[in-house]
Amino acid sequence: MRSVDVVIVGASLAAAAAAKRLVDAGLETVILERKELPRHKICSGILSPRGHRFLLENFGPLPRETLHDPTWCRGVTFHFPSMVSMPMDFFHGTTPHLHRKYSDHWAIKRSGAEVHDRTSFAGLEDKGDHVLVHARRQGEPVEYRARQVIGADGPSSLVVRAVYPDYPKQIPWFFVGQKFHEIIDCPLSPDYFHFWFHPGLGHYTWSHARDGRQIVGVGFKRGDNFAAKHQAVQRYLEEKHGVRLKPAGDDDEGCAENFGPSLINRYVFGKGNVLVTGQAAGFLNMIAEGMSCALHSGAISGEAVVEARLRNRPVQEIYRQMVASEVRRCSDQWNPLKIAFDKPHEADFPAALMQLGWRDRAKVLRDMWRFVVLYKEFKWGRQIASAALQRPLLGGYSMQRWL
Ligand SMILES: Cc1cc2nc3c(=O)[nH]c(=O)nc-3n(C[C@H](O)[C@H](O)[C@H](O)COP(=O)(O)OP(=O)(O)OC[C@H]3O[C@@H](n4cnc5c(N)ncnc54)[C@H](O)[C@@H]3O)c2cc1C
Repeated sequence: MRSVDVVIVGASLAAAAAAKRLVDAGLETVILERKELPRHKICSGILSPRGHRFLLENFGPLPRETLHDPTWCRGVTFHFPSMVSMPMDFFHGTTPHLHRKYSDHWAIKRSGAEVHDRTSFAGLEDKGDHVLVHARRQGEPVEYRARQVIGADGPSSLVVRAVYPDYPKQIPWFFVGQKFHEIIDCPLSPDYFHFWFHPGLGHYTWSHARDGRQIVGVGFKRGDNFAAKHQAVQRYLEEKHGVRLKPAGDDDEGCAENFGPSLINRYVFGKGNVLVTGQAAGFLNMIAEGMSCALHSGAISGEAVVEARLRNRPVQEIYRQMVASEVRRCSDQWNPLKIAFDKPHEADFPAALMQLGWRDRAKVLRDMWRFVVLYKEFKWGRQIASAALQRPLLGGYSMQRWL
């Protein structure tokens, strides 16, 4: 059995950030990754300015092979059923368009931690002064002994299930799928990530350029027909935006997403010597931007381990204190009052809104309202919709819902 200071589960961005803090502090750190590295990760790869700053400051400039084409993104364009479109530039200029297969591997390598890929986390036992980690490497059982474990294993986290077996039943689950199309004619600017606030299309509908093709993606509920949903979006893009695409290739992909915990304040930070971070903990910004909060929360989890040892304090207590700023930042993104009067996002929504004539402004606000109400058709929708509407009264987030 291998004994180390910390085992991190998952070799993604949250893990790289956590590992960087631990290795810098001199702690022996092993990262377990179920896939072979570099591994594929479904993601649009639009890094927010804050995420970009984090990578630059902690890992240095991004090599070309960590980027898709176009290599950068100027901002986000919101499209509404009333056919108003609102391009919003990111603050401080363009951001990189990450190729997650290579960017994540690059960050992991630069963290300096030891990585055991093709090694799947299977379970753990917290013994109080150490944690036993059970894993499988190419089918064979392997065990680790660590002072702390950090779960950075993404939305369907097994670490979360190991600590809170009922947690997956307590939160909303959505599915997303995307298809890749050769382009005949696409008037949508390749400089922007495009998002539709359209109840008729679904709760999460997006499109953007990548490596000479156009991605068309859609969110859907369990039991929905992804192909039919996608086809409806493709038809809509053609009719309303003049987007003409060839039939999709056979490399379509999708996954389940724990979308919504940051909206309904059901973050999960772990128990005892086990910390949970990144999207596994529920960090996901509005319109599913999750890399910047994965990086920041991941770094905080690593710092919490270091700090707990220095101060000889329980690691959970330290982590929950330190991560509060990231919780507020993430949850504030959903606060309608903050959106209208402050700048919780990294693209300037109020400025873009003010550039519209007052009629279009009214249409946008009406369309956004109708979009929030759409959530009511989901099992968890009422909770999500009411959280969105009550958030200004609650002041952003409520501590008691943290696990
Ligand atoms: C379609 C789509 C588009 C997106 N677009 C964007 C975007 O443009 N910008 C943005 O910021 N965010 C985007 N996101 C969200 C973003 O991808 C995630 O929020 C972010 O990757 C979360 O990072 P993480 O480090 O927490 O976990 P993840 O990136 O999910 O990584 C978890 C890692 O853990 C590994 N793992 C899982 N289980 C185990 C196990 N049992 N044992 C060992 N390893 C395990 C996985 O293989 C993976 O490597 C998108 C997501 C989707 C689905």
